[in-house]
Amino acid sequence: MSSTPYFTETHEQARDAARQFADELVAPYVEAAESEEQLPLELFRKIGQAGYLGIRSPEQYGGSGSDLLTECLVIEQISRACCGIASAMMPQLLVGSIIGRLGTEEQRQRYLPSIISGERICSIAMSEPGAGSDVSAIATAAKRRGDEFVINGTKTFITNGPDAGVVLLLAYTDRSAGNRGLSLFLVERGTPGFSVSRKLPKVGNRASQVCELIFQDCVVRRSALLGGTEGGFRNLLGAVTMSRVTFAARALGVAQSALDAATAYAGSRVAFGQPIGKFQAIQFKLADMATNLEAARLLTYQAAWMSDQGMPIVKHAAMAKLFASERAVEITSEAVQIHGGYGYIMETPVQRYWRDARLLTISEGTSEIQRQTIAKQLELGL
Ligand SMILES: Cc1cc2nc3c(=O)[nH]c(=O)nc-3n(C[C@H](O)[C@H](O)[C@H](O)COP(=O)(O)OP(=O)(O)OC[C@H]3O[C@@H](n4cnc5c(N)ncnc54)[C@H](O)[C@@H]3O)c2cc1C
Repeated sequence: MSSTPYFTETHEQARDAARQFADELVAPYVEAAESEEQLPLELFRKIGQAGYLGIRSPEQYGGSGSDLLTECLVIEQISRACCGIASAMMPQLLVGSIIGRLGTEEQRQRYLPSIISGERICSIAMSEPGAGSDVSAIATAAKRRGDEFVINGTKTFITNGPDAGVVLLLAYTDRSAGNRGLSLFLVERGTPGFSVSRKLPKVGNRASQVCELIFQDCVVRRSALLGGTEGGFRNLLGAVTMSRVTFAARALGVAQSALDAATAYAGSRVAFGQPIGKFQAIQFKLADMATNLEAARLLTYQAAWMSDQGMPIVKHAAMAKLFASERAVEITSEAVQIHGGYGYIMETPVQRYWRDARLLTISEGTSEIQRQTIAKQLELGL
């Protein structure tokens, strides 16, 4: 794996430590978690103890106070071992960073230490049965009633939902105000009216779970509001932009595993009297996979580095997410091809990389939405 101009020695050390952690501590949990479609809670706490659930969170609450590039390097390495575990870490990292930035002192003290340690699992609940890409079409509403809000609505595809101790919920507090009327709430497990209605079995990323959540006359106090009644959407978008870069890093990890597996297989599988890696057709596939992965890596690290320098990254984050996730789908698919029939058999890990990568162009803003975001940043003069 190459170094880049964006790394300091501290970044290299963080990457190497995360790689060792992934190989030694994450890998042993993967098979059972994948077959049972269950997040291994014991592992999640170990990830917390290693400091990987609060990479950008303030040190005074147990976080590492580190940067987005470090977060990317850690997620890339965890995803190399298991994209599904990296998936479960993402809401945790995102919710922690939003509370760190927008939360009141009371909210920070209440949530950050347990989120960072992995004791309290987080979900982000934006998507609904009738609204995914078009967030402004959500139907969930939080109606003010004195010092409380009464929430009604259904959220779907919510990562970590079945285990979540706290859900960051997006709801309208004032529909007539458009996007400015969207607000963020921290809703805790056990709040009357909040329930997990059903788990949604998935094709890949099976070491994490998604589910549907129901909010039915769910009453929360005003103190559950995060960042005021106005600007919830804007605040969430800012955090999601950074999370898209971490998401791109997740694509790098799974693509790297597929490339490694395909390279090893090409060197050992014999056909027509020689290793298949001696055929130019296979060599060219591997060369394209490696080149695309390197390009995705540079886009991702550059976007993270720019963010860490305080530069705007809306376009670069979308480019990194778009390119890394689309290349991951291709690279994992080519890795299956190089494995021939064995690539399609469940006992060969490469099929998991392919199933896991398929999600990456859909979740956290589809490829079409990333392209739309990039196009908006181009001066089209329309
Ligand atoms: C495994 C998994 C985990 C997830 N985790 C979470 C989570 O934790 N929290 C959460 O809130 N959500 C989560 N999601 C939801 C995810 O973010 C949405 O699936 C995604 O945003 C797409 O929304 P949608 O599925 O409603 O598709 P739609 O928005 O209905 O889109 C359908 C198709 O139309 C295209 N399309 C839509 N609008 C346009 C447009 N303007 N121009 C061109 N094409 C367009 C899309 O790109 C897509 O190809 C998860 C989803 C999955 C599958």
